[in-house]
Amino acid sequence: MTAQQAHTPQAAGTGPRTAELQGRFGAALMPTYGTPPLALVRGQGCRVWDADGRAYLDLVAGIAVSSLGHAHPALVDAVSAQVATLAHTSNLYLHPGEVDLAERLLGLLGADGRVFFANSGTEANEAALKLVKRAAGPGRDYLVSTSDAFHGRTSGALALTGKPAIREPFGPFGVDVRFVPYGDAEALRAAVTERCAGVFVEPTQGEAGIVEPPAGYLAQVREITSAAGAAFVLDEIQSGLGRTGHWFAHQAAGVVPDIITLAKGLGGGLPIGACVGIGRYGTAFGTGDHGSTFGGNPVAAAAALAVIDTIDTDGLLARATEVGARLADGIRATAHPLVAGVRGSGLWLGVPLTRPIAAQVQRAAADAGFLVNAVAPGTVRLAPPLVITRAEADAFLAALPGILDTAATSGGTP
Ligand SMILES: *Cc1c(COP(=O)(O)O)cnc(C)c1O
Repeated sequence: MTAQQAHTPQAAGTGPRTAELQGRFGAALMPTYGTPPLALVRGQGCRVWDADGRAYLDLVAGIAVSSLGHAHPALVDAVSAQVATLAHTSNLYLHPGEVDLAERLLGLLGADGRVFFANSGTEANEAALKLVKRAAGPGRDYLVSTSDAFHGRTSGALALTGKPAIREPFGPFGVDVRFVPYGDAEALRAAVTERCAGVFVEPTQGEAGIVEPPAGYLAQVREITSAAGAAFVLDEIQSGLGRTGHWFAHQAAGVVPDIITLAKGLGGGLPIGACVGIGRYGTAFGTGDHGSTFGGNPVAAAAALAVIDTIDTDGLLARATEVGARLADGIRATAHPLVAGVRGSGLWLGVPLTRPIAAQVQRAAADAGFLVNAVAPGTVRLAPPLVITRAEADAFLAALPGILDTAATSGGTP
């Protein structure tokens, strides 16, 4: 086998089949995810293929990550060129890509700030947590987060995560985090005193099922944190980089947080996270206060620059708005008895169901050739690549009533 052949992606259906891979997965990987129902081997645009050669229209994008879809030439070219030039430097040496990317992000944010690069969303939030502690004045000894929030799985990020089932087995965390109901500004006001170091909030709660706060909530969070002198950390890990039809969700709300965390869509599938400190939060870390061997590495930075350039040059913000509205309208127009509504904006939609059978919908959709995500027992999440076309959205909408019918009759209980 030549080196070229060794690195050619496996053609769909020519390697081990799904059932075999599932068996080996179960024996070799920790059971943190259960055994996934599909084994994916290839992608092109918004389409992916499983190990048995079946094609799917991907409306999940690896959890709002593959913003340019799969095998986008801009991403392939940028990553291939960078890995062939210089794959890694560590933080002992700077490289041009991290400088370009930091400047680019600050430009998109329209903010005076500084960037720290990490490898994931969790790590971006860990950086934010340490930054909040670093920037806090004396006597500020607790943080505030929101019920049902998801901020990540490491100890610091998990301490801020408001989902008891994933949080409680692993405490105590050594950081005092108080939870208030998401979207409730008065509860937040009562919780944020001059002893509060910072407040972590998502602009819309992604893992909770695309749960939007009442209009004006982010502006209230800004007002409350400013009045108390606490940091306002906005977790845009899922919402950022065009997902909502804006570069960042907070821009639509007209607020400027103190710290913004990014990951998921930023690298278009390559692992990268970022913690952006605005104003004095940009310079609160001193030399040696934080670090990451891989964070913002040349390959990941090249990927992120390609993602940003492509969103820009291909008009993908406008496409997210337009195709997202088309999807949302089309889902509502099914008037199916299982559909209780549509939440979210842009290409980031939650479909609440009238019965808790999102898992059945996910399965029926896959059987029909569409990937959707049962984000909660009663909510289906759609977060397709930002490159999804009108025709692809329409193909899903045409199939949706049949998918919902199948799910509704396929057992009923999850
Ligand atoms: C996914 C997510 C995280 C965690 O990101 P990882 O890359 O999985 O560590 C944190 N916050 C939000 C809002 C997320 O959606």
